Amino acid sequence: MSPSTPLPYLDPERPVAERVEDLLGRMTLAEKTGQMLQLNAKDGVRHLVEDLYAGSILHASPEHVREAAAATGRTRLRIPLLVAEDCIHGHSFWVGATIYPTQLGMAATWDPELVERVARATAVEVASTGVHWTFSPVLCITRDLRWGRVSETFGEDPFLIGELASAMVRGYQGEGLSDPTAVLACAKHFAGYSETQGGRDASEADISRRKLRSWFLPPFERVAREGCRTFMLGYQSMDGVPVTVNDWLLNEVLRGEWDYTGTLVTDWDNVGRMVWEQKIYADHTQAAAAAVRAGNDVVMTTPQFFEGAQNAVAQGTLDEAEIDAAVRRVLTLKFELGLFEDPRHPDPARQAAVIGSPAHEALNLETARRSLVLLTNDGTLPLAGGLEAGADGRALAGPGATPRTVAVVGPNADDPQTQLGDWAGSSGQADWLPDGQPRTMIRTVLDGLRAHVPEDWTVTYARGAEILAVGPDPEGAYFPDGQPRPHVVVPAEPSRSLIDEAVAAAEGADHVVAVVGDRIELVGEGRSTATLELVGDQVALLDALAATGTPLVVVVISSKPLVLPPSALGAAAIVHAFNPGMQGGRAVAELLLGLVEPSGRLPVSFARHAGQQPTYYNQIRGQHGSRYADLTQRPAFAFGEGLSYTTVTYTDLEMLTENVQAGDVLRARVTVTNTGSRPVRETVQVYVSDLVTSVTWAEKELKAYRQVDLAPGEAREVPVELPVADCTLVDARGRRVVEPGEFELLVGPSSRDDVLLRGAFTVKG
Ligand code: BGC
Repeated sequence: MSPSTPLPYLDPERPVAERVEDLLGRMTLAEKTGQMLQLNAKDGVRHLVEDLYAGSILHASPEHVREAAAATGRTRLRIPLLVAEDCIHGHSFWVGATIYPTQLGMAATWDPELVERVARATAVEVASTGVHWTFSPVLCITRDLRWGRVSETFGEDPFLIGELASAMVRGYQGEGLSDPTAVLACAKHFAGYSETQGGRDASEADISRRKLRSWFLPPFERVAREGCRTFMLGYQSMDGVPVTVNDWLLNEVLRGEWDYTGTLVTDWDNVGRMVWEQKIYADHTQAAAAAVRAGNDVVMTTPQFFEGAQNAVAQGTLDEAEIDAAVRRVLTLKFELGLFEDPRHPDPARQAAVIGSPAHEALNLETARRSLVLLTNDGTLPLAGGLEAGADGRALAGPGATPRTVAVVGPNADDPQTQLGDWAGSSGQADWLPDGQPRTMIRTVLDGLRAHVPEDWTVTYARGAEILAVGPDPEGAYFPDGQPRPHVVVPAEPSRSLIDEAVAAAEGADHVVAVVGDRIELVGEGRSTATLELVGDQVALLDALAATGTPLVVVVISSKPLVLPPSALGAAAIVHAFNPGMQGGRAVAELLLGLVEPSGRLPVSFARHAGQQPTYYNQIRGQHGSRYADLTQRPAFAFGEGLSYTTVTYTDLEMLTENVQAGDVLRARVTVTNTGSRPVRETVQVYVSDLVTSVTWAEKELKAYRQVDLAPGEAREVPVELPVADCTLVDARGRRVVEPGEFELLVGPSSRDDVLLRGAFTVKG
């Protein structure tokens, strides 16, 4: 080979597989083991790359990403690093990035096309900063609302999750990995992590293989088949086996049945946890061998894996060929991303052009508007009967209209960082932006109302209540693995003076808008809540406001569904915003003023009481009754619900094919009419009920939906087309099958039985 001929692995003309084998053949065992490591870049990168040969880093500040670029250039084989981050609703920890509504907020749009655009725009921002891999989307199914990670999910329905997650994967990965704006998507947390006990994070998931196949696996199978390049394993164990070493799930199902060839990353110190927390291995040598053998490719934040895996090879408990198989997958990703030719280092010029760009801000506003859910309305909204926007976006008062005063109160009315929710700015996972995202980029509800009410209206403000304070965890500042323990929550003491001030503001106003909810201290990993009620003095505030007699509009800005007190449920209106991102307050203000129409639908059910958990709609038939002795089991607000500023009727469900076979497409149509005086984007939901099943099964399941825009008075015949092959259940032997027999198609505006039209069909054997 002449001196100018590149080494085979550095030659972009050669096929990826050939380059991988050439490089692998040049690597020492230590270098290979290092490629499997993904280490925390919190304290710098040089040591990770030079001493541990790390193949990947995460949580790198912008400064450390630059350091990583320099460090890899100095290594023997110059293997580029994979830089990973949790960019889960925008580029979370980049100062000035566009932060969108949380996944749960995005799910309330029910719009895969919009979610795909958000993910694409996020990837464009992320890629410009030298990050190649985002740990998103989350495909966990919300089951118990007390779980701290509900806001990271797309809600409670596997079909909706599959629709939105695959859209997000498409958005991140773009036209293909060679596109410099593509970032690797990561489907997590595989699988069953959210089946918690008591809502507690990472508890043993009491879940059978059949139950996994019934509800938890389908969204993952879908994104696996659609080319999601990486999967992250969860923290939980099932039937005594941590997911990290669950041979059935990883090898039989994922790699076997689904033929998945992508890369698997553990969750945070999963390999170490099997030693120090779950105590199923005596040391890191055993744990490392087991993790490699089960098929893990990238080991997140367990530096002891480096020694452990090499020891296991030396002791003969692990074959080097098993490490090679993992490293092959890691290197393949790096070659397919083209990192050997272009390591995609941070690009300041590109950052200036794309990060927080006006186009992304506009997309964010669109998403926030679509994410809001109007839960109740006695006609008070839109305020003043609904206003038109002027050229500057400010509402115009009608001719001769009397100016109004709006009192804005509540702890979440003007709390910019809280509005962003978890995995954003100062939410706790990154230490380089202690003050969070720039205040100037965030529009709170108070900002929104001030900017958008007509010129001659008055907006007053009173905080009204505190939610909580925090104090140190009595168990110590750090977990045994070195992760900081979150502070514990101390509910705020009642404050008469704050409430009096808010009451005075309400009494002096035509409308009171009370913005309540939760705070970051009640959200996230290790922050599951025992209760779902509004914390601190918020209920007392709402009670006092309701007593003033001024029409009360409650806006809830929270990470997840909360239990609302009677004073909120009886208020003039309730608008729910699942942490709606930087533009959320503007979107809320526009909705209240009627400058935009409410169109969000709940991706998750709301409980009346924490003791009702779980409240998801697709529960298994066979329970005795639908009541507790002391309370109904029915949710306060059900999956799929959400009001508009108009009325919509569903009539004439007509089954066009009543007798079908498994290979057919079921066809029906329904007439949907906007019977009110304002336009609507209606989400027409299609559920299926299998009337007699060989095993117990959900009473109904969402199988399709369609969003239609209807002008006032407009009627539309909406076609329903559903492959009969989708009308499946999982039988007693764990097989997904369509069982011939009688079915019902249920079509309507939500999952509530009393609003669904029903049509019968028969599946022939
Ligand atoms: C979380 C993951 C996250 C990872 C890296 C873990 O604790 O469970 O969702 O991607 O940390 O930040």
